[in-house]
Amino acid sequence: MITLHPHPRAAAALVLAFAVACSPTTTPTPSPLPTAVIAVNVAPTATPSAVPSPSATAPAAPATLTATPDASTTTPTVDPSAVASPTYWIPIWPTNESKVFLRAPDTFGGDPHLYFGRPIGGGGNNFAVGDYRFGMTRDNTLVAHHGLDYGNASGTPVVSIGNGVVYYAGSDHERVFGPREDFYGNVIVIQLNDAVSAYAVYGHLETVDVQSGQAVSEGQYIGTVGAGGVAAGPHLHLEIRTDNPDSYYNVVNPDLWLRPIPGHGVLAIRVSRGEGLLVPGVRVIAYCSDGRYRTVDTYWYGGNLSDRFYLENAALGDVPGGPCTLTAQLDGQTLTTTVQVPVGGIGFAWLKGN
Ligand SMILES: [Zn+2]
Repeated sequence: MITLHPHPRAAAALVLAFAVACSPTTTPTPSPLPTAVIAVNVAPTATPSAVPSPSATAPAAPATLTATPDASTTTPTVDPSAVASPTYWIPIWPTNESKVFLRAPDTFGGDPHLYFGRPIGGGGNNFAVGDYRFGMTRDNTLVAHHGLDYGNASGTPVVSIGNGVVYYAGSDHERVFGPREDFYGNVIVIQLNDAVSAYAVYGHLETVDVQSGQAVSEGQYIGTVGAGGVAAGPHLHLEIRTDNPDSYYNVVNPDLWLRPIPGHGVLAIRVSRGEGLLVPGVRVIAYCSDGRYRTVDTYWYGGNLSDRFYLENAALGDVPGGPCTLTAQLDGQTLTTTVQVPVGGIGFAWLKGN
């Protein structure tokens, strides 16, 4: 179960781990992840499997991936603007406690909720850092990531991802939003109108140019990228929180909430054992239609970070439309599946072990 206040003996290790918890531009000195960090956050029945050692060289892509994507498969199947009304969320919205599940249902799908726009304005970079995606530990050197990082120069404009009201804007010396004070530096939290209980958290800002209580609209300038708090270099840390904007633990994967960059789509992923037992910490390699591959690890917190709609345990945002072949090693097996990524929509890839 989730413990918000780790054992005192773990505190020092946690601080060390957090000290490099948001550093997309600098590779921290590798050190063993304190076991307490994992133990605190993994449900007791889960046994995290070892992360496969990443190959030093790029794995060879299966021959099928060089095929030209069928244009008909890249047609958006879902209009993100025509998704369910916010009221749909009320009865099913997860609490932190209800997200402690490890078994997935037989089906994998659900209505997309790609409600929101992109957080970086001014022509800056809106692709998230790939080796520290949501729920990942950067090869056991960091705590599992609670958001996505967008590497950009200090001063790059940051915009609201949706219509809403500023819940908080200012220093997290005065109000703590991370696991401790001064983790995110200058912070903006926006209560989003589009889903009843969703909040966007922007961390490490250089400047904050909105005030608490102010109404904002999607795309509106709110501040600039910085490197305040615990950050080794300038970047935006973005979280989506549910139910409780003050809880560091009430997070879901932003890749499942932001409309993809044009020409791209999203993959929700499950890696499971047996009858749907979600397995944490499994590396998935996705070979996609641009001839490149991407890697993602299943959430190290087990099912606790899964989106209630999908019960996924990994996701890849901004994948080019077309086919993607995913592989993972689990219990000595090589699991493989090929799925279509719809442009502007979401595809589902399920890797099932024995
Ligand atoms: Zn981050």
